Amino acid sequence: MHVVVCGAGYAGVVLTRLLEEDLPADVDLTLVNDRPDHLVQHELHRVIRRPAVADGITIPLEQLTERATVHVGRIDDVDRQERTIRFAGGNDGESEAHTGAKPPDDTLEYDVAAICLGAETAFHGIDGLTEHAIPMKTLSHAESVREQMLAAFEDYARGNSAHLVVGGAGLSGVQVAGELAACCEESNIDLTDDRASVTLLEQTESVAPQFDPPFRRAIRDALESAGVTVRTETAVVKASADTVAVARASGDDPRATDLPADVFVWTGGITGGRALEGQRPVVKRDLRLDDRTFALGDAARVVDADGEAVPASAQAAIRQARTAAENIRRLVAYERDGGLFEPRLAGYSFDSPGWLVSIGDDAVAQVGPSVITGSPALALKATVGAGYLSSVGAIREAVDLVQHELGGQHRC
Ligand SMILES: Cc1cc2nc3c(=O)[nH]c(=O)nc-3n(C[C@H](O)[C@H](O)[C@H](O)COP(=O)(O)OP(=O)(O)OC[C@H]3O[C@@H](n4cnc5c(N)ncnc54)[C@H](O)[C@@H]3O)c2cc1C
Repeated sequence: MHVVVCGAGYAGVVLTRLLEEDLPADVDLTLVNDRPDHLVQHELHRVIRRPAVADGITIPLEQLTERATVHVGRIDDVDRQERTIRFAGGNDGESEAHTGAKPPDDTLEYDVAAICLGAETAFHGIDGLTEHAIPMKTLSHAESVREQMLAAFEDYARGNSAHLVVGGAGLSGVQVAGELAACCEESNIDLTDDRASVTLLEQTESVAPQFDPPFRRAIRDALESAGVTVRTETAVVKASADTVAVARASGDDPRATDLPADVFVWTGGITGGRALEGQRPVVKRDLRLDDRTFALGDAARVVDADGEAVPASAQAAIRQARTAAENIRRLVAYERDGGLFEPRLAGYSFDSPGWLVSIGDDAVAQVGPSVITGSPALALKATVGAGYLSSVGAIREAVDLVQHELGGQHRC
């Protein structure tokens, strides 16, 4: 039997590690990813201010796996009828050299597969967005933001402007805006001066709109204290090389105004990748797309056992991996034992212990009904991040993360 995990983000890595423990030794297990390493995406915004963080948040897959075969290659298509995974032409030569991982053939057949391919940035067809905005999904995105931001800072030092704009105030957007504001502070750029700004745009009526009101309010307060201008109910309608056109998201005033933008980061939504034909398919409580294919994490729109839509997040992806691992274990046992009836599968219920975001050197945590800010929240964030890294066997990276998060002053 062959079990294939597609994608080595939070869902894929946690699932693979659980299956390594749970599956009988004669079941082949393969982990496929388009890069040779696992990116700890929820810390990506930190790279804008502290490029050295990049090392600690890219962990070689060989370090995280024991018995699974790692294939580095880009999946182009998952044919669920044929139970076949097809790869895009040409593998990442750098990746193979890095990991020694065996390149995949053109196709890989599976008995059971889990699609954990994450999501891509959605540009919603907004004029000029793909050309002029930088998304925030990969290390090179974070590096591009830093590069453009430093160029804007140099311009500011010459008497010009430094206007930094972020579109979309979900988990990634609020944290990116926080980092940009912290960079301004560390670079002595005065955000009360007309020549400089960090603006966060959100089309709904609140930042972090998927979360509880007290958490949202605390995030907004932390952003504003850091000097970020927060504009809610404001939709991006067009982008050019140095402006972002915005309009009221509600009401009947269609007039757009141009905001100056020396850097424009777009975190305004996600969509499915090419391997899933641009879709994020809906999966329900057992996380199955069909009898032998699972989909979890950001790759799917998960509706849990209570009928609730689950927010796309690292913490949900990790918890879904536990349910998927149990269900794959049951299906494999049924196939191997030649059982009479398909096994009853476990249902996933979204049960969050809380939420945590960093806003520069500040942080906001929701723990149960309570909202915590300041150094206790920052310590909690470092602990949770390090806890995740050590749970997947990345101990050195866990220590580095705590040092970066709590290590005091840094210069941008
Ligand atoms: C800046 C930022 C901050 C965030 N902060 C938080 C936070 O504080 N808390 C929180 O819970 N969430 C946070 N998130 C969201 C969180 O990172 C995502 O929800 C999470 O990464 C989803 O996990 P996943 O395993 O589904 O997908 P991913 O982590 O995106 O992993 C998908 C994997 O599949 C690989 N892949 C994709 N396409 C292919 C292909 N065609 N072929 C082969 N491999 C492929 C990718 O390289 C990747 O390794 C943040 C996100 C960002 C960008």
